[in-house]
Amino acid sequence: MYRIGLGYDRHRLEPLAPAGRGRPLVVAGMSLEHQRGPVSHSDGDALLHAIADAILGAIAGPDIGTLFPDDDPANEGRPSCDFVEAASSMAAERGWRLANLDAVVLLERPKLAPNRDAIRSNLLSMLGALEPESIDAICVKGKTGEGIGPVGKERLIEAHAVVLLTRR
Ligand SMILES: [Zn+2]
Repeated sequence: MYRIGLGYDRHRLEPLAPAGRGRPLVVAGMSLEHQRGPVSHSDGDALLHAIADAILGAIAGPDIGTLFPDDDPANEGRPSCDFVEAASSMAAERGWRLANLDAVVLLERPKLAPNRDAIRSNLLSMLGALEPESIDAICVKGKTGEGIGPVGKERLIEAHAVVLLTRR
């Protein structure tokens, strides 16, 4: 038996505080050097938010906004690995494991490629509850906005994720 889940997230990018409201840019827990960062109540890790929602979607669970309300002071600046770990545990408790995860991050700069393997291994450990077979079960691709639109103008980071869960 299989379940597929789709997750999507976006965050506006602003100059880093104090010049703007941007938080330091993080993708799957990796800090990326950039003069702009996401505006968010949590740490603004769009890829992790999309992945958590994909897992929760696959099990028809609540979304992360319901699990971790953005008006709850306890979630202020919260590391988003908490969201992925909570979603993974919830799915694992219901008997699911991860067959594979595929994701796309839309970000003009910096390039994701140099950090791609580090991002994948971060995800492998965050998804531990779902017992992914190996790093080959996890793929993340970076795309630019080709210089146009909100992504291309460095005003937005966007992430899409698909997970396939299989019954133990
Ligand atoms: Zn988000």
